[in-house]
Amino acid sequence: MLNRQILLVLLLCGFKKGLVNVIIMKTNCAKCGVEILLQTSNDNNGLCMPCKLKVDSQRTKPLTKKLKKRLTKLGYVSDKAIKYFENILGTEGEDSVIRYLDLEEESLNLYHKWFPCVQEYEAKCRTELLLPTHESLTGLQLSEYRILKEKMIAFRSSNDFRVLQIPNKVILLKSTIPGLITAKEVFIPKLKSIILLLSREMNTWFDSVYNEDDDIFMWAVKCWWLVEKAEKEPKDNVDKRPSFCESILDQAPKNINYKTFSQGLQWGPLHGGSNKELWKVCGEDMEFYNFLNVSCY
Ligand SMILES: [Zn+2]
Repeated sequence: MLNRQILLVLLLCGFKKGLVNVIIMKTNCAKCGVEILLQTSNDNNGLCMPCKLKVDSQRTKPLTKKLKKRLTKLGYVSDKAIKYFENILGTEGEDSVIRYLDLEEESLNLYHKWFPCVQEYEAKCRTELLLPTHESLTGLQLSEYRILKEKMIAFRSSNDFRVLQIPNKVILLKSTIPGLITAKEVFIPKLKSIILLLSREMNTWFDSVYNEDDDIFMWAVKCWWLVEKAEKEPKDNVDKRPSFCESILDQAPKNINYKTFSQGLQWGPLHGGSNKELWKVCGEDMEFYNFLNVSCY
């Protein structure tokens, strides 16, 4: 606002020269003295962004008994979680905390509604198709198991794994048979609310059981580790140029079989990411050939 007023006065006074310098006026942070834009200072009570964040993080207010009780019921009991909510209370007020808790409780209700249902479906699938043990895998399936195991272990020690540890969310993991065996070994000991299904089983559950009126991401996180025959994706109608993925496949030697390995994670309509690689099939083994795509949304 102040900027606009200064600009208006200058324009009224007939100033034209050096206008650009006027627009990007600078000042100093009231706390640490670093040079900042006047606009930043106006927006943050005279502080630079790092100082503002620091001050905000120190603005906490003790939670009322009632709020604490609701948090405990939701499983937010660690000091870190309490501090987080005390900070929201201190900076944004009680209404914000209440809105947050209302939403979390709605999620928890959906979790209780859907988790037993999808668990029952998973059990039915596993009676119809018993998973072999990894010792009984041979040939390409064994090779797929080894590659997926390495990828899943790497994922488990990455920051992305925290997404699967969000409280009150069911992890819906889809994969191939070797992938499900691997996921069982790598994730089951660490995650209690995880569902492991083959791609087609997961699709059937969504098509025939799930009531789409409930927002899936309120109670679940989707993830996948898939190994598929490498095929060109159908051409985009709007963009006729070959995608990076297609050009890699076009350039790859033709007398070899390829498979794609993809892994991805989605925890909201616009929150997630995935990557896809092309692997060469060499007899009973597989060898990395190239990256196909990486996406974050
Ligand atoms: Zn500062």
